[in-house]
Amino acid sequence: MFILGDARSDWADREGGRRPPTSTLYCERVTRNVVGTNGNSVRHAPGLQSHAADGRLHDGFGRVGTDLRVSLTDRCQLRCSYCMPREGLEWLPNGNLLTDEEVVRLITIAVCDLGVEQIRFTGGEPLLRRGLEDIMAATTRLRTVSGRSPETALTTNGINLAKSAVALKAAGLQRINVSLDTLDPDRYARLTGRHRLGDVIEGLGAAARAGLNPIKINTVLMRGVNDDEALALVRWALKRGYQPRFIEQMPLGPQDTWQRDGMVTAAHILAMLRKELTLVPAHPNARGSAPAETWIASGAEVADGVVPLIGIVGSVTRAFCETCNRTRLTADGQLRSCLFARDETDLRSLLRGGASDREIADTWRVAMAAKQASHGIDQVSFLQPARAMSAIGG
Ligand code: SAM
Ligand code: SF4
Repeated sequence: MFILGDARSDWADREGGRRPPTSTLYCERVTRNVVGTNGNSVRHAPGLQSHAADGRLHDGFGRVGTDLRVSLTDRCQLRCSYCMPREGLEWLPNGNLLTDEEVVRLITIAVCDLGVEQIRFTGGEPLLRRGLEDIMAATTRLRTVSGRSPETALTTNGINLAKSAVALKAAGLQRINVSLDTLDPDRYARLTGRHRLGDVIEGLGAAARAGLNPIKINTVLMRGVNDDEALALVRWALKRGYQPRFIEQMPLGPQDTWQRDGMVTAAHILAMLRKELTLVPAHPNARGSAPAETWIASGAEVADGVVPLIGIVGSVTRAFCETCNRTRLTADGQLRSCLFARDETDLRSLLRGGASDREIADTWRVAMAAKQASHGIDQVSFLQPARAMSAIGG
């Protein structure tokens, strides 16, 4: 549990008694975590002002990091073939994982000092994190600079969702993405290494009853493995009021499981769906920073009162790097400016070394200022990151 603190006294701690000018990005901290701040006075990093006059996470290409992905664990019960090797990975040592208090402190800095507005919890499998509900509640008690709760979302394999959906909703979780690549129990077991399809379907029902909305179904199609199920998954999801969403497979799993030529591309997915459905762009002029292109479908049975939206995330062939607004934290406290970054910034050492919130915020700004222009998957010089997707946080 986290201790509620007074926003103004926290400002005073950090600013040596002075309330910051209203033009800077300080927001209301309605949550104070048990780690606290040490209030050291620090100088801004050289050259920082030119990038971050308003305190937000600007990079060199005009993008601003307002969307934080927080990985809460690298562990998972499944072994999805495109994500983890069958034998699993060497898990991060427990002592390297951020504690709940450390996670909340970094989220507080992101929201209150750096202008982050959306937070997605992921992993590994985030429902394996014991403190998830407390972290969620502490996050939703924060107020962004515009006075709202940060938008919260969760990406999960859904296996433990039936047990946790109600509590997560009560803690303030708004939206949820559940990964599901097949409706066939045997194929599910082959793809993930575990016979858990029934648990996922039960979890989805529990999420809907708990009032989580929208519920998106994330599917990665692979040629000759599950691409024959694209239409069946769409029909199944729309009928139940879920939003189907296809993600192009990216080179982030076990080495040699991804080949550019073997990918099921966004164009191919659209062509498959259009054999039976009519698709009209939902946002013809404004995809914005959303990774998915969305389509309104007709020709399928749809749950009452639901707009039949289908999302396609063309991460490779229709990359959205130009408008990417993401900043990422791994479960062991490493900051990444891109899923495909080859370097990380160690916030855990700063936290544990007694750095002030301002020092951590400045370090975060400097790291994001160097965010790469694009993931570069199509370039010959592309190298897969050393960490797997499950250890970065998808
Ligand atoms: N365990 C949770 C889950 O499966 O939803 C959260 C973590 S998982 C890494 C997040 C998302 O990344 C999932 O929707 C998964 O399908 C997707 N993913 C994993 N590896 C991928 C890859 N190589 N290419 C594209 N998407 C991938
Ligand atoms: Fe686990 Fe999610 Fe990776 Fe599948 S995609 S192995 S559920 S972390």
